[in-house]
Amino acid sequence: MQLRYGFRLYPQAGQRTALAKAFGCARVVYNDALRARETARSEGLPFPKTGELSTALITEAKKTPERVWLGEVSAVVLQQSLRDLDAAYKNFFDGLKAKRPRMGAPRFKSKRDTRQSVRFTANARWSITTGGKLRLPKIGDIKVKWSRDLPSEPSSVTVIKDASGRYFASFVVETAKEPLPESAAEVGIDLGLTHFAVLSDGTKIDNPRFLRRAERRLRKAQQALARKAKGANNRKKAVAKVACAHAKVADARRDFVHKLSAQIIRENQAVYVEDLCVKGLARTRLAKSVHDAGWAQFTAMLAYKAARHGRTLGKLDRWFPSSKLCSACGAVAQPMPLNVRKWECPCGALHDRDVNAAVNILAAGRVERLNACGGTVRPAA
Ligand SMILES: [Zn+2]
Repeated sequence: MQLRYGFRLYPQAGQRTALAKAFGCARVVYNDALRARETARSEGLPFPKTGELSTALITEAKKTPERVWLGEVSAVVLQQSLRDLDAAYKNFFDGLKAKRPRMGAPRFKSKRDTRQSVRFTANARWSITTGGKLRLPKIGDIKVKWSRDLPSEPSSVTVIKDASGRYFASFVVETAKEPLPESAAEVGIDLGLTHFAVLSDGTKIDNPRFLRRAERRLRKAQQALARKAKGANNRKKAVAKVACAHAKVADARRDFVHKLSAQIIRENQAVYVEDLCVKGLARTRLAKSVHDAGWAQFTAMLAYKAARHGRTLGKLDRWFPSSKLCSACGAVAQPMPLNVRKWECPCGALHDRDVNAAVNILAAGRVERLNACGGTVRPAA
């Protein structure tokens, strides 16, 4: 199976310029291809194929004065940019068919986007030098901070520049599965609003303090930015501060979600969650924007860790009233406003709203796993 390993990069000034050029060229090819497809669509012409776009927008375009500079960067980077656009379209169409959470149509990339990236595959002739540097074609040997060992030869590397101007290399590595000893435990997880997650055994997991602190700093930086006048000199500084605070929140969240998902997979043979695209329908827009980033990341990590360690991740992709259903008698209660955290069923059972939901998710997950021929619960790929 494939895993990603990320490391910080420290490019020198000349390498940063070369990377900026690569980011720019990849973006131009992406935008040209997007424009070609949108134009074809609006004129009712067939969707241009990637091969055709590659010839027209890379090979032929390099011969024109307007695009001659595309020749200054590795051709593989430009090809990968077309692949990225394909993936963006595929995700968009799959979303329309409800195969995954709905997302917007591919959009034009901007120089001002907070995240810039280029990908080098095996045929780009990139390598790791004996001195431990990352050698990229037409860019040079970049210093890497190796925070851990790569388990095997990586097949591709993506170079990323984030909002706060930091550079990273993300390697794709093929790794063997590492099955964990069987466990008798199973767990249902409710991704709640008052806590990050609530488990069917009653455990409530909050965002850790370091993440809350990072989020508070980000809010403050955003407020400070909102008070700065457009065009003012210290507005630029405030923008940089917000970007930096964003990066810190993202780092803290990734760290937290990594540890939490690892622990849950280690302790349980099967893990059940509600599928987010189903769950999303039942929630408001506001709540969504705050939580979904973390949840999507969490369930994605549960999925790959389950696959790696021989566990089952069941996603309930049919909506059911998990918080209103009495886990003791099966009666469905009246709709409850969000501020009702505890409720009593006529059968006498006293429920914590979130724990009850998690217990129901576990029960529904087990049932659907037993009827797995129905195919509603999929073991992790
Ligand atoms: Zn009841």
